[in-house]
Amino acid sequence: MTDLYARHKSVLPDWLALYYEDPLEITHGEGRHVWDSDGNRYLDFFGGILTTMTAHALPEVTKAVSEQAGRILHSSTLYLNRPMVELAERIAQLSGIPDARVFFTTSGTEANDTALLLATTYRRSNTILAMRNSYHGRSFSAVGITGNRGWSPTSLSPLQTLYVHGGVRTRGPYASLSDDDFIAACVDDLKDLLGHTRPPAALIAEPIQGVGGFTSGPDGLYAAFREVLAERGILWIADEVQTGWGRTGDHFWGWQAHGQSGPPDILTFAKGIGNGSSIGGVVARAEIMNCLDANSISTFGGTQITMAAGLANLNYLLEHDLQGNARRVGGLLIERLRAVAAQVPHVREVRGRGLMLGVELVKPGTDEADPDAASAVLEATRADGLLIGKGGGHNTSALRIAPPLSLTVAEAEEGAAILERALRSVTQ
Ligand code: PLP
Repeated sequence: MTDLYARHKSVLPDWLALYYEDPLEITHGEGRHVWDSDGNRYLDFFGGILTTMTAHALPEVTKAVSEQAGRILHSSTLYLNRPMVELAERIAQLSGIPDARVFFTTSGTEANDTALLLATTYRRSNTILAMRNSYHGRSFSAVGITGNRGWSPTSLSPLQTLYVHGGVRTRGPYASLSDDDFIAACVDDLKDLLGHTRPPAALIAEPIQGVGGFTSGPDGLYAAFREVLAERGILWIADEVQTGWGRTGDHFWGWQAHGQSGPPDILTFAKGIGNGSSIGGVVARAEIMNCLDANSISTFGGTQITMAAGLANLNYLLEHDLQGNARRVGGLLIERLRAVAAQVPHVREVRGRGLMLGVELVKPGTDEADPDAASAVLEATRADGLLIGKGGGHNTSALRIAPPLSLTVAEAEEGAAILERALRSVTQ
């Protein structure tokens, strides 16, 4: 691995984010486990980066991909292909968006870029509302609407972006408010902002912020925002790149936790649907999707090989009720982690839902984020055979737990025990 790291340093950019002081080289996986090039086995509590939605090397997906590869990998989006149309039909129906149209891309970034193209064209405005601490991808325009400063390397955005408060319950005057008062304060802030600007095209938001550390405003926040937006004809783009497909247990989409506000105007997805093969996409009602008056394609979006993976993966997810599994196993896991947290003063909060759980670390007795402790826990869990993620806003002080949705109770317990050992050893 060290040799590969040295070669990587001489050929890849310095800003490429890499975990671990001695970076990992993963060679293969099975179920909820992966192996590195030294033969070490790890329980994967990060599911790729929420990309391995069902399981590593799931036989159903492998079979569909190899059968498709034996026929044709790709034949250009200038021709029709059956798996693409079939997957689009399934996603349109699952989205809850009326008269939905689906456009496939190759990543979450490109999906959000497309959503921005649609919203700005439809509303003839290049002003976008985005949430503080958000992450929406790495293209020029996605970076321009990313509120998380750790992931936003330029301020030269092609869009005018206004940041909205509410995605994170930060310290300061907001921290002590009840959920209802917090939502009311955020709605007032939003109205105030809108009073001082040209009409924005859309608000883009992650129902639970992913890179931001699995944080979210209270349930109902986006329903309350929606009322304000709808009155002014501003669209709502739900970035479901991390939160979709039942990961949060109680709901199939993250936006559904926010009350009866109805489906978003535009929904973007990626990550888990391909189980590791590169599928992203946008869903919008026809009126919005069809607002472009010039041709547009994504050469590799909707290509047969990824669509075959997506269909097999989605079928498995639904047939095995992995959303229900995420709710049940995630419920046990969060309880277990909260019990540990009660005894470890470094843990400020264990949050999240389903199999999307965040553990926020602070310096004991203070409210101060502790990114060093988070890095140390990552190293300690790795040494003990568990992979987890980290994230957060200005400071990367949250541990992120997002295993494949087929996680078993025994694996949840095994992972929680490793995490407990790591938290105790690093923080004592
Ligand atoms: N949106 C969200 C919420 C994400 O978490 C990410 C990636 O982490 C993206 C968009 C960008 O997706 P991709 O890395 O596939 O371009």
